[in-house]
Amino acid sequence: MLLRGKTAVISGAASARGIGLATARRFAAEGARVAILDLDGAAAEAAAKSLEAISGEPHIGLTCDVADQKSCAKVIEAIAAVFGQIDILINNAGITQPVKLLDITPADWDRIQNVNLKGVLFLSQAVIPHMRRRKSGSIACMSSVSAQRGGGIFGGPHYSAAKAGVLGLAKAMARELGPDGIRVNCVTPGLIGTDITAGKLTDEMRAKILEGIPLGRLGQAEDVAGIYTFLASDLSAYVTGAVIDVNGGMLIH
Ligand code: NAD
Repeated sequence: MLLRGKTAVISGAASARGIGLATARRFAAEGARVAILDLDGAAAEAAAKSLEAISGEPHIGLTCDVADQKSCAKVIEAIAAVFGQIDILINNAGITQPVKLLDITPADWDRIQNVNLKGVLFLSQAVIPHMRRRKSGSIACMSSVSAQRGGGIFGGPHYSAAKAGVLGLAKAMARELGPDGIRVNCVTPGLIGTDITAGKLTDEMRAKILEGIPLGRLGQAEDVAGIYTFLASDLSAYVTGAVIDVNGGMLIH
């Protein structure tokens, strides 16, 4: 088991078909104790309870709005009190919106930046002191292929900008936190079959996207969960500041 004895915090992990919950399941199977954070506290609690069937560890599910610094600080203190230590942080929570450049309102811009980018900062700020104290930790942050290729898949330009911001923030965190034994990396998925598109991905859009994927299929939440597991585990002990594509070849550098 790759994560035996480790504790992990995963944001945005209550959604039934989401990448966060698939990651929580994989982490539990690898021996970790998991804290699931989500806007929807009841769903987070239910998701944590569902992990008991995978491993009997005391998993927990709590309400957290990653865009709210106080909410992040409060929830991380509560988790640290229960778990005693935090080894892994997965900054996974995110939202998207399919709009064109000229249609982005100031409120749209703020909402997308606040969750996708500020949320990474706020939750990391709350967790880092706990990792620093033990001179050890792994943080993985959710970016997107949208940041690398300028969108054009589903999310609007404000989403691409936020996810590109995550790449810069995570690399700067990797540089600053390396001397403390804390690694920080990013994942950049292509289109993954989850509910983030909220029914707005048409068959026509899907078929067009598939034409550009050498592996010939959309990604699954488990495809990303595997990379998060690699980054969380000691298999990646000498990896920091890296960006790992999970896109079926949609973008080959
Ligand atoms: P999802 O909608 O299933 O999961 C996102 C979760 O984040 C939900 O449970 C939601 O409640 C939660 N969330 C939203 N706002 C939050 C907030 N303010 N605080 C805490 N939790 C919040 O979608 P998903 O596809 O599993 O997305 C997970 C991450 O992957 C997102 O950051 C998304 O941008 C990114 N991503 C997804 C794809 C894709 O194609 N699905 C591709 C690249 C990147």
